[in-house]
Amino acid sequence: MVQRIEMIAVMDTDWTFDESTCFDKILSRQLVSADRMPLDCPLCGASDSFHSYFYRNGASEIGSGWSWCSRCRRFSHGRWLTPAWWVNSPDFPLSVLAVAPEALENNVGLVDAHWNSLVLAVGSATNSPS
Ligand SMILES: [Zn+2]
Repeated sequence: MVQRIEMIAVMDTDWTFDESTCFDKILSRQLVSADRMPLDCPLCGASDSFHSYFYRNGASEIGSGWSWCSRCRRFSHGRWLTPAWWVNSPDFPLSVLAVAPEALENNVGLVDAHWNSLVLAVGSATNSPS
């Protein structure tokens, strides 16, 4: 299970930072039995609208994570222990990542394809943090 370490909220877009635990719960559930992205949004219920992405910070086990809904534009972001199976996508270097998941949403097809390829490679996302 992924463990969030802290959460920060900086708003400079039309994204809404969600302080509930909905995204954390669905992300943890996804990591136990994931077989695909996107998922249904736990807040607005829109189908296939919920996405997640991690960023591994070098060899550190502490990285960043985002979870968000393309429909209602609620998101969560914080420092996370990245799962062992996670590999950063070359499409999303740290220089394009911000608190709000705008760059990720703008290329959400790549985000989902990256997640799904990693999960396919390990058989499932069942894992503990690295
Ligand atoms: Zn939603």
